[in-house]
Amino acid sequence: MAELLKGKPIADKIKEDLKKEIEDLKSKFGKSPKLVAVQIGENSSSAVYLKAQIKNAENLGIEYVLNTLPEDTPQQEVEQLIDDLNKDEDISAIILQLPVPKQIDAKRLVNLIDSVKDAEGMHPSNLGQVLLGKWSLAPCTASACLTLVESTGIDLYGKEVVIVGHSEIVGKPLSLMLLSKFATTTVCHIGTGERGVLPEHIKRAEVLVVAVGKAGLIKGEWIKEGAIVVDVGINRVGDKIVGDVEFQEASKRAAHITPVPGGVGPLTTTMLMKNTVEAFKAQKAKKII
Ligand code: NAP
Repeated sequence: MAELLKGKPIADKIKEDLKKEIEDLKSKFGKSPKLVAVQIGENSSSAVYLKAQIKNAENLGIEYVLNTLPEDTPQQEVEQLIDDLNKDEDISAIILQLPVPKQIDAKRLVNLIDSVKDAEGMHPSNLGQVLLGKWSLAPCTASACLTLVESTGIDLYGKEVVIVGHSEIVGKPLSLMLLSKFATTTVCHIGTGERGVLPEHIKRAEVLVVAVGKAGLIKGEWIKEGAIVVDVGINRVGDKIVGDVEFQEASKRAAHITPVPGGVGPLTTTMLMKNTVEAFKAQKAKKII
């Protein structure tokens, strides 16, 4: 039976260290890191993440400001706000809450955030650092997955890693991060699924990360004996939240498996806080990220 790979204990340890670091930074610079969130309209799907951000920031001593703009705010107004936030030396990091209303070009806004204030690590320049294998601000969910995998003590060198899902926030950056650890990385996506060859890739995965958003996509019987399974998916089925992997069956074969909820989620918010502190330090040191 697989050992549960829970996010909370790992997140708690990282936050304990962050809290001390923030206290030290505060006594050295006379101020704490400040994270500003930009939300356009109210969105129920991001409410849980938003609540977690506020709670984590408060517990850690990070100043958190939520800017909620009306649902019909024009693109240009949001761009002006981001420009102002970029220029404000008091602000260490900026996050654009997703999803955004139809009239808003989110990608353009993310690209406008100063790369040294990019809390989510989604600016092209930070993604470029991931490509170069030496990152400071990486996408939070991808960092969370890497942290979970590494927490098992696995030596990734030469290991067969399969990632399902090639999104910009998870699959793509994670594949590069794992590659920089010399894992043999395969990225599966809709083409792999539609061609019907997902099972054969998954069956040889010593490490499997799934980030798709389809309940039960990955059958338990496909899991390699002794594999590490990180399930990023969040799916509502009836009154339950489940991942993309058939948990019960997969647990019989895997050595480690993340629960859903309680696996990747708690670490994602922690990585956002970590990025905020990294951004603060980089700006104080006038370091190029
Ligand atoms: P996304 O942007 O929709 O990406 C999903 C990926 O899955 C795409 O690359 C898609 O390929 C691929 N895909 C779709 N159907 C497939 C199939 N049948 N076989 C193989 N690949 C398939 O989603 P995301 O933002 O990465 O999020 C993925 C899941 O993780 C969601 O459930 C989301 O809620 C969850 N999530 C959790 C956290 C957390 O902190 N716990 C954070 C972020 C996301 P194409 O693009 O080519 O169609």
